[in-house]
Amino acid sequence: MPNFVKKNLDVIDEFKHKGKREQLVQLLREKGIDDENVLQAINKVPRHLFMDSAFEEFAYKDQAFPIAADQTISHPFTVAKQSSLLHIHPNDKVLEVGTGSGYQTAVLVEMGADVYTIERQKELFDFSQRIFRKIKIRPKYATYGDGYKGLPSFAPFDRIIVTAGSPTIPKTLLKQLAIGGIMVIPIGQKNQMMTTFLRVGDRDFEKMEFGDCQFVPMLERTEK
Ligand code: SAH
Repeated sequence: MPNFVKKNLDVIDEFKHKGKREQLVQLLREKGIDDENVLQAINKVPRHLFMDSAFEEFAYKDQAFPIAADQTISHPFTVAKQSSLLHIHPNDKVLEVGTGSGYQTAVLVEMGADVYTIERQKELFDFSQRIFRKIKIRPKYATYGDGYKGLPSFAPFDRIIVTAGSPTIPKTLLKQLAIGGIMVIPIGQKNQMMTTFLRVGDRDFEKMEFGDCQFVPMLERTEK
């Protein structure tokens, strides 16, 4: 267990954190996020519990931060942007690839989605499970595995969100999208383009692009 996990399990959500979250929500509004469901979820989820408590005072700034296993918790703006692009309705069945800290998962669960999430790093998978239990966030299903494969036994999904940069378009994931469903994914090598695919038919997808972004790479197979 990474050291900070033990510490984080003792940290609590206090009044001062709530105040900082409200300021963050205001900032996200100014940056153009207008999906109220997303903003309310960000207002509720204690982001500081998903990061090393050494960074607690920065948890509600619009910054990415290192988590375990050389990965990062995305900028709140990125989380808000990807969540908005999904156009979530209550009980939408959402596949998330790259649980990481679990922060994005928690935001989607707060938005009312039924979330199925996959993480390839065992250390992060274990960390996210502990935090979910602590703050009583319940994804429908969380697993340690290779997200390139998706979760065929649970497909089709209404929505798919990939939170790591994929060098190419993962066809296996597109196949697991319901007709009428949306996938949001950063596509590219070093820098990526935030991209959505709307499945309009069995073989037809409408692609849209939403600007440059930078994510850690989506990698194949799992790591202990
Ligand atoms: N949504 C996360 C972002 C974490 S960074 C958060 O809010 O904290 C991206 C994550 O994707 C990393 O944890 C990385 O290990 C994971 N990842 C990369 N490739 C993957 C794959 N093929 N399957 C599952 N997870 C993957």
